[in-house]
Amino acid sequence: MLIHLRELYGKQDKAHISDKLDISDIVSNHLSMNSAGLVQTEADAIFEAGRVRVNAHVHVDLELICSRCLVVFEDPLVFSYTELFSNETPKEDEEPADKDDTVNYVTEDKISLVPYTKEHILLELPMFPLCSDHCKGLCPTCGVNLNDEACNCTKELTDPRWSGLKGFLSK
Ligand SMILES: [Zn+2]
Ligand SMILES: [Zn+2]
Repeated sequence: MLIHLRELYGKQDKAHISDKLDISDIVSNHLSMNSAGLVQTEADAIFEAGRVRVNAHVHVDLELICSRCLVVFEDPLVFSYTELFSNETPKEDEEPADKDDTVNYVTEDKISLVPYTKEHILLELPMFPLCSDHCKGLCPTCGVNLNDEACNCTKELTDPRWSGLKGFLSK
């Protein structure tokens, strides 16, 4: 997944990069990830306004672990990202034309998109994955998955915020 910056500089050609990336290193470091397929990245690089703009489209099929019921579920992750690259030295007093356009000033001619794709995958991953918005989670007493079955554990008010109120009501 290499972008040849100098080949694009000053030209109007568009370079297309299509690649599959293994992210087992991310899976093994991420507690809520069970597995991941190969990451398919389709990117276009084009010279524009003095720098190379890369628009990348990413698709990866993930298996995540629900943070409430611990069940493994499939969750395809699809997103796009943009990165700007320049071989020039940044001018210190230069105001960025667009505040959202952060330029990566690099000295290499060939830029690998791998670290950028990995970084954006980490940003896109949900902090607390849920198998469904309505996931009921596990019973805190007996541990059954409340999405699959009900249990006979007491449904009494166990929230400590209510215990004072309960004592007050029983007086
Ligand atoms: Zn769940
Ligand atoms: Zn229970």
